[in-house]
Amino acid sequence: MQYADVIVNIVCEELDRCFQYRVPEHLEGELKVGMGVMIPFGKSDRLIKGYCVALGEECKFDPAKTKEIAKIVQNDSDGDGRSVALAAWIRENYGSTMIQALKTVLPMRKSVKQLEHQVLVRTATKEELIAMLGESQRKHQVAKARLLEALIEEERIPKEWVTGKLSVASATIHSLERAGALKIQSTNSFRDPVKVQAGEERKKTLSEDQERIVRQVLAEYDEGTKGTYLIHGITGSGKTEVYLRLVEGMVARGKQAIVLIPEIALTYQTLLRFYRRFGNRVSVMNSTLSAGEKYDQCQRAKAGEIDVIIGPRSALFTPFPNLGLIIMDEEHESSYKSEGTPKYHARETAEKLAELTGASLVLGSATPSVEAYYRAKEGKYTLFELKDRLTGGSLPQVEVVDLREELRAGNRSIFSRKLQELLADRLSKGEQSMLFLNRRGYAGFVSCRSCGLVIKCPHCDVSLSEHGGKRMICHYCGYTAPKPTLCPSCGSKYVLGFKAGTEQIEEKLKELFPQARTLRMDRDTTGTKDSYEKILSAFANQEADVLIGTQMIVKGHDFPNVTLVGVLAADLSLGVNDYRAGERTFQLLTQAVGRAGRGDKPGFAVIQTYQPEHYAVVQAAAQDYESFYQEEILYRELGGYPPACHLLAVQVFSQDEKAGERLAATLAERVKARISERGTTLLGPSPATIGRINDVYRRVIYLKSKDYAKLVALKDELEQFLATAQINRENVQFDFDPMNFL
Ligand code: ADP
Ligand code: ZN
Ligand code: ZN
Repeated sequence: MQYADVIVNIVCEELDRCFQYRVPEHLEGELKVGMGVMIPFGKSDRLIKGYCVALGEECKFDPAKTKEIAKIVQNDSDGDGRSVALAAWIRENYGSTMIQALKTVLPMRKSVKQLEHQVLVRTATKEELIAMLGESQRKHQVAKARLLEALIEEERIPKEWVTGKLSVASATIHSLERAGALKIQSTNSFRDPVKVQAGEERKKTLSEDQERIVRQVLAEYDEGTKGTYLIHGITGSGKTEVYLRLVEGMVARGKQAIVLIPEIALTYQTLLRFYRRFGNRVSVMNSTLSAGEKYDQCQRAKAGEIDVIIGPRSALFTPFPNLGLIIMDEEHESSYKSEGTPKYHARETAEKLAELTGASLVLGSATPSVEAYYRAKEGKYTLFELKDRLTGGSLPQVEVVDLREELRAGNRSIFSRKLQELLADRLSKGEQSMLFLNRRGYAGFVSCRSCGLVIKCPHCDVSLSEHGGKRMICHYCGYTAPKPTLCPSCGSKYVLGFKAGTEQIEEKLKELFPQARTLRMDRDTTGTKDSYEKILSAFANQEADVLIGTQMIVKGHDFPNVTLVGVLAADLSLGVNDYRAGERTFQLLTQAVGRAGRGDKPGFAVIQTYQPEHYAVVQAAAQDYESFYQEEILYRELGGYPPACHLLAVQVFSQDEKAGERLAATLAERVKARISERGTTLLGPSPATIGRINDVYRRVIYLKSKDYAKLVALKDELEQFLATAQINRENVQFDFDPMNFL
């Protein structure tokens, strides 16, 4: 006997439960998860439509009272069935309730509340603009020149893109408004952010390598042997051009395409290339849209008004009727993993969606994730390589400096001799430099120099950081307090902030080069989204000689005048206790090194480190991904880490420390009984890396298995237990193959 869980209303929040129905014999084998069904409902047994979200052999209620499914709805014209099937898969594979999964997959049915958007509209002739451009170039007004160039090409540009992706400050826009180059117009719609004609861009003749990729992907699609493809190619090697051709091929076949690009990498130029090819058949989904506008985009996709959607992770759930292609650019980015429950990864979810829809999946990256490359090596993905840079601009020369040698030579500065020499050279030539500290949240703690007391956040297990000299801040919960003048423990007056990180670098740089104009970008200086853009814009405008920052500065923007990049301490991201530390370091170093020499002038990168022999450093300096991968995968195999082995982190949250400990212990006990027979290992429970945040205690259990399905089965058992014991699901979260140790 087969039973089906049926959900009847996929919008109403109260219905976070399924009704179980018997599957009539003649439908067994035919009924699949995600299909629409008609079921008798309520006392009157009126027939209503529902969706099958799970199938099983076990009857959870009284079999005599369980009703039978009337029939399958053959023609699921609204396409919701596919979304339900995908949600069911997400629920199963990442752990959440069905409603949480459905909410992830379905656009919120919000009425379209349009935000007010502003558009810059060209008001001068092209000739006048070209004259202004010449003048601003002479004056080295880089941001102004960039906006003028864009205006020469486009009559209308959304202001969000100008301030965001072009990093032009509002003041610059207003000065051009006063000069009569443009006017600012308000509009209620983000539908057509740029007015361009489709097919406007001149097509390039593809290189042989590009051509081969396009031909193979489309041919395999036509033959019905489509798969997942990974394009490994450095920035500028022509990946986007390949995406454009593939989308074009799909549109010609009457299919639609989803293009995923992490928001930070979605540049105005890239967007424009898509608009130029596909005109108003393209739509963008980004964080500047309201929920209503996002819903509106989904409705347009459903109605067949658009062929292409571009956006970050959630754009994956755009309900196209005939999806033919999913592209995932910068596939290695950690933003593809959801931080909220269900903690799904867009890569695997895209694979599932491709399977459900028959679409092809194309991944692209300059530094592929170890996961994706592993699957390519296993033959699960087809690997393509694009090796040549089509844009010109040479790869920078890289030198690794051993900081131990520096110390031995008597240099106690945080800048190596080589870096000092190059900085001086760049300053004298008027070229720009970037100094990069590869660690998040590395800020100075406050301690007593007399008794050693370190001042901690009263709500979290972390120390407070000095903020602006007089205050202290917790970077985890936002708690702030004035910095005490006397030590709360011994009364000494030597309570000092330990200057570390970017602030210290800025200070030391100023001591060394008093004339250098500096900008600093880190969590302290970028409290608001706006300040982030302002700093980048000022730097692009050449208002500073040196930009100092955390990893925020290595992504996205191109600065053609930057000819020197210094990585101050490559070890900082290696030293953390995390199985992805090597991979992250390699990616960051590769990206940082790639920042130098984007323009016509050759670039130089200096990597300072205490571990010059570490493979992540060595291979990043050599820009050799393959060698890095070989060492990294060996490490993952030895340690039993993803992708060689799968990990499930079960996190337990509790305001009451003891209650949390008990719950974690109970959960561990439940799985312990099963793990030996299941070939899995259990680690913990133990306090999370940060044991308490915002007064919530965190414990974690790790389960390890080569077989993902075994971890899913253990998760199912725990979920069942939580349901039976009526434990609030918010207090237990599952994270499969987590992005870092929790
Ligand atoms: P990626 O996405 O790998 O960074 P792009 O597709 O953006 O690479 O290509 C980099 C640059 O080279 C772009 O300016 C693009 O217009 C140009 N380009 C790409 N393919 C070709 C080609 N086949 N012929 C000439 N120029 C090309
Ligand atoms: Zn003290
Ligand atoms: Zn705190």
